[in-house]
Amino acid sequence: VSSAAQLQAVRAALAAVDGLELRDDPGTLTDFGHDESDQGSFPPQLVVFPRTTAEVQAVFRACAAQGVPVTPVGARSGKSGGSLAVAGGVALCLTRMDRIVSVSRADLTAVVEPGVILETLQRTVEAEGLFYPPDPNSADLCTLGGNVAENAGGPRCLKYGVTRDYVLGLTWVLPSGEALEVGRRTIKGVAGYDLVGLFVGSEGTLGVATRITLKLLPLPRAVMTALLPFASVAAAATAVSEVLAAGVLPRCLELLDDVALGAIDGQGFTFPPGCGAVLIAEVDGASQEGVLAELTRLSEVAAAHGALETLLAQDRDQRERLWAARRAVSPALRALKKFKFSEDIVVPRSRIPEAIARFKAVGAELGLTVATYGHAGDGNLHTNVLYSGPAERPCVEKALERIMCITVELGGTITGEHGVGLSKKRFLSLEQSPSVIDLQRRLKVFFDPQVLLNPGKMFPEP
Ligand SMILES: Cc1cc2nc3c(=O)[nH]c(=O)nc-3n(C[C@H](O)[C@H](O)[C@H](O)COP(=O)(O)OP(=O)(O)OC[C@H]3O[C@@H](n4cnc5c(N)ncnc54)[C@H](O)[C@@H]3O)c2cc1C
Repeated sequence: VSSAAQLQAVRAALAAVDGLELRDDPGTLTDFGHDESDQGSFPPQLVVFPRTTAEVQAVFRACAAQGVPVTPVGARSGKSGGSLAVAGGVALCLTRMDRIVSVSRADLTAVVEPGVILETLQRTVEAEGLFYPPDPNSADLCTLGGNVAENAGGPRCLKYGVTRDYVLGLTWVLPSGEALEVGRRTIKGVAGYDLVGLFVGSEGTLGVATRITLKLLPLPRAVMTALLPFASVAAAATAVSEVLAAGVLPRCLELLDDVALGAIDGQGFTFPPGCGAVLIAEVDGASQEGVLAELTRLSEVAAAHGALETLLAQDRDQRERLWAARRAVSPALRALKKFKFSEDIVVPRSRIPEAIARFKAVGAELGLTVATYGHAGDGNLHTNVLYSGPAERPCVEKALERIMCITVELGGTITGEHGVGLSKKRFLSLEQSPSVIDLQRRLKVFFDPQVLLNPGKMFPEP
């Protein structure tokens, strides 16, 4: 935690920056102490709201001069605690930098500031017949800066890839205050090291993005969505890999297990009787006929592997209700038990049935409810451990550790989209060797020699 004198010196330096808003009232500091990770409360000592790259540079210079830590903050929808100021200091909130600078139909690109809300960008480009595919389920909250830092994904990433596949270039402000233009504005380009690739997914530990150039696609002309009920989660999980092995590539293939279904059934959406799990499949393409043919093929393969039926959404309203039900799973699980940890592990698709069965067995053995749902098409499962209160916490920690060990044993990874941040840093060494972790630590220090930017994240304690 920084001293009052250090913070006073930072304030004094920033007073010279015209119009830069600073806040340290208790309400603001408390709010900025939380995100969606359930990691606890880590309030910063000062929150700054820059509006320009030059202001971000000024904040970094003032903090570097005083040795005060800086934590970049977007919308605080993060699920790994990346925006929490674990060492106090300054929270650098980028939500006021919220301009869509340009959208080019001719070049299929958009240039945005980091505080643009994802849904705002999606709507803006769709109105022009363009498409920005990455679609985390927090689209109405999260910022593009947060998406870039976490390399966010979502249901559509099965077909279209994750945020990293859409970032062409960015303005990268280093902890020293220096601003670099990295990457390009063209769709292709291989000059030099892939610094954009390094920045995307660096979880706010290597610098701050103040302007981002994104790749767009033409908006698909036809989209169809279907619900496929199964008697058991094992059957649904098997159908996921069978569908993809049959050469069908839906844009989304989401799985909900029995616990997830039970949490949302009857709340705006009623599932068919006798169903123990569902898949939500969405297919897109250039024509209705082509999309229908693809969905028919998907339905046939799924039926051969236990799908009870294929219920096709008849219009936009039905599609939206289905996706609203999917989005309701996370809050509905919290209504079952007051607390939960929501993991985002990934396993090879062929191992999904085994992974789900073993996670459930961990829950049964430890007396905890484990729900699994998520982007099963790309093997990315949200395994949620539900619990009632702090007394159960040691047992929950044990369950999380076992889930991570099983994941790595099955050839998977501990995080598919939420990032390591604070919540998973103790598990990183399950997946990565000491030399790989050490190399990343050295990279961190190269970009941030004073280790003032978002300290205490990503790497296990030495
Ligand atoms: C209901 C719900 C559903 C979700 N669904 C998904 C999902 O489907 N897929 C998915 O991937 N995630 C999902 N998330 C997690 C979260 O929304 C994403 O990680 C999102 O990208 C975080 O964006 P944010 O603006 O809230 O960033 P924050 O939470 O504020 O910050 C996240 C990280 O980004 C860093 N950061 C923020 N802005 C910048 C910047 N400009 N430059 C450098 N670093 C920066 C912060 O330091 C921090 O480390 C979900 C969250 C919720 C609450």
